Amino acid sequence: MYITTTIPYVNARPHLGHALELVQADVLARHRRRRGEPVRFQTGTDDNSLKNVLAAEAAGVPVRELVDRNAAAFEGLRGPLALSFDSFIRTSTHPGHRDGVERIWRETAHDLYQRHYEGLYCVGCEQFYPDGPCPDGHEAPLQRVSEQNWFFRLSRYQDELLALISSGRLRIEPAARRNEVLAFVAAGLDDISVSRSAARARGWGIPVPGDPAQVVYVWWDALANYITALDGGGTRPDGGGTTLDGGDYERWWVREPRKVHLVGKGVIRFHAVYWPAMLLSAGRPLPTAIFVHDYLTADGRKISKSSGNAADPAALVAAYGTDAVRWWLLREVPRVGDADFTEARLVARADEDLANGLGNLVSRVATMVVRFLDGHVPDEGEPLARVDGAVDEALADFDFRRAALAVWTLVEEANKYVELTRPWQQSGRERETSLGTLVRTCRELAVQLEPFLPGAAARVAAAVGADRLTRPDPLFPRHARPAG
Ligand SMILES: [Zn+2]
Repeated sequence: MYITTTIPYVNARPHLGHALELVQADVLARHRRRRGEPVRFQTGTDDNSLKNVLAAEAAGVPVRELVDRNAAAFEGLRGPLALSFDSFIRTSTHPGHRDGVERIWRETAHDLYQRHYEGLYCVGCEQFYPDGPCPDGHEAPLQRVSEQNWFFRLSRYQDELLALISSGRLRIEPAARRNEVLAFVAAGLDDISVSRSAARARGWGIPVPGDPAQVVYVWWDALANYITALDGGGTRPDGGGTTLDGGDYERWWVREPRKVHLVGKGVIRFHAVYWPAMLLSAGRPLPTAIFVHDYLTADGRKISKSSGNAADPAALVAAYGTDAVRWWLLREVPRVGDADFTEARLVARADEDLANGLGNLVSRVATMVVRFLDGHVPDEGEPLARVDGAVDEALADFDFRRAALAVWTLVEEANKYVELTRPWQQSGRERETSLGTLVRTCRELAVQLEPFLPGAAARVAAAVGADRLTRPDPLFPRHARPAG
């Protein structure tokens, strides 16, 4: 499976919304790898956005400096969030990216034409609107732009897109999002502007091949990352810098049967309409699935720089640990609908589930094996439940919360079993069977938890994995003081 996240523009540091998409993609990648499937997990940053230029101007630093600093903060989430991405592309520095964008531009030349354009432009969205204000809530007034642009004949692909999406060859989840896209396409597609004046972009971005007064529209540029990232920028027979026709591109975009884009609801049109049309025009294969997640709010408000540390994933990890942050994102965010983040909710979830639920279970089980059986794990006993099927099904639906809950049933079953059997009141064979069952359930938990909480899973495995157990250290810190 080829799994991608969107590549955020880097006008600011990452926030918790970025962490959500990265962690969801990471769970899919780890889950599929664990099933023995070849996986490539791709992420990165959109360095060429006009927003980056404006943010640098506002901060009074060179664009390159601002972009490098913020892109490093995104790439730096790898450790704190325990991300297992295989490749991180930066569109301004990846060796093959610019060549790849130019190549796709030439391949779609039969659908490109020049036209004078006037419209209202939202820099926040990097797109034109017929009138203001910005429907996405960006506060800066829309700019009236009047220039000669390159246009892409999107209108030509209406029927093909409808057929692709309604047949499920391009799967869009959840269903409400698929219907939204189908309605948008069925209402009729206008051609789209795919270049900007180089002057307005302050020279930042990729020049249009053969027309250096224009730069390639940043969305066109950014969407191409899903394939240019697969190309290391080798040398073509004609001396050019990129191939897009062999190696990893061939492996992961042409031959791979499952290519999944994870995207936020605000960019669905770009991924489900513009990008497939670009690929159709270029004669290249399409993605096979797009999963659209909703948004996070923090303390009831849209996440923004003013949300402060509450929305800074690295700061949250520093305060509460990787497991607590990942667990909140996976356990609390629904497949459909926005979710509101507060630190209090994160703490409550971490204490209740991780410290009290999972941590207590593992430490009780290991402690009883040490006390009653001198640490020796009995031969008897099987895990109390198998959750593979339920996890597979939930993740096939991109339902991360349902998948996390399926794993959690093991914790609940095991805790119930402890209360039911009371191994401390048992003896002999009976007690050995109970404790053997509990140890094997905890081992199964370690296996099943790995895609969700890789750090916690490793600690559980260390606590119950050996033939002879020792008294364990606490697995999780407790963050809140008990009431009273
Ligand atoms: Zn906007």
